[in-house]
Amino acid sequence: MLIKELLAKSAEQLREVTDIPQKEAMILLGEVLGCEMSWLLSHSDDEISMDERFTEFLKRRISHEPLEYILGRASFYGREFDVDARVLIPRPETEILVDKAVELAKELSPHLHIVEIGCGSGIISIMLALLLPKARFTAVDISSEALHVSQHNAKKQGVSERIAFVEGSYLDGVSGEIDMIVSNPPYIANEEPLGIGLSYEPSLALYGGSRGDEMLCQIIDLFVTRGVKALACEMGYDQRQPISEYAKSKGLEIAFYKDLAELDRGFWIKEKR
Ligand code: GLN
Repeated sequence: MLIKELLAKSAEQLREVTDIPQKEAMILLGEVLGCEMSWLLSHSDDEISMDERFTEFLKRRISHEPLEYILGRASFYGREFDVDARVLIPRPETEILVDKAVELAKELSPHLHIVEIGCGSGIISIMLALLLPKARFTAVDISSEALHVSQHNAKKQGVSERIAFVEGSYLDGVSGEIDMIVSNPPYIANEEPLGIGLSYEPSLALYGGSRGDEMLCQIIDLFVTRGVKALACEMGYDQRQPISEYAKSKGLEIAFYKDLAELDRGFWIKEKR
């Protein structure tokens, strides 16, 4: 079979799963052959024999497994991070949370202690460590499996010395002063049905409780009780009103940000001076 024939046949099979079947077929074949997409295009008339690994990749993708898990990597904020089924796949909207946290950090002193609750693959703390070279971090996750992934990613990005990884719930095991908390916690309501792609991701990282915003409220409580200076969190598009009311009931001033689709996607709170 010719490369172009194999790609056309595979793209046909991927049509149900993705809006970009040709591109995904090329990404998967490129991964198996260890070559760039441009090489595949310029060698499309070459003969190729069916490769078992490619068949396997195709089968996984046809059953809706996310491309990132098949490849074992995802890009976030222009960098590449390792991911697998132990962690949530980075979402582009979380880049806005990173920007928000950087903005808040710059209003404080450079030598901050920033704590991330629920670090998953580590993308947020790692990006912040790269963008805020004088800050130090504690990244907490309840999942030891997720911590393996985040520690590996921190090493790969060269920031592992400034991030302490802690296995725990919320701020368990985090002592001393905290200047800022940042979090993209699970915030989907337990009963909400997940799309087929999401069912491959760890439910521990997605479901936040019967309403969905329970963990966000708990994080707001911790911001108050631990005397933290700033808080930035991602949230669900429909959680602005309950979160706003909750923060106001605690006497806090809260502000919200939107994602690229113009949906409410997160909030920040600063300590009152
Ligand atoms: N933004 C994710 C989604 O909608 C959810 C992530 C989360 O719960 N923190 O798939």
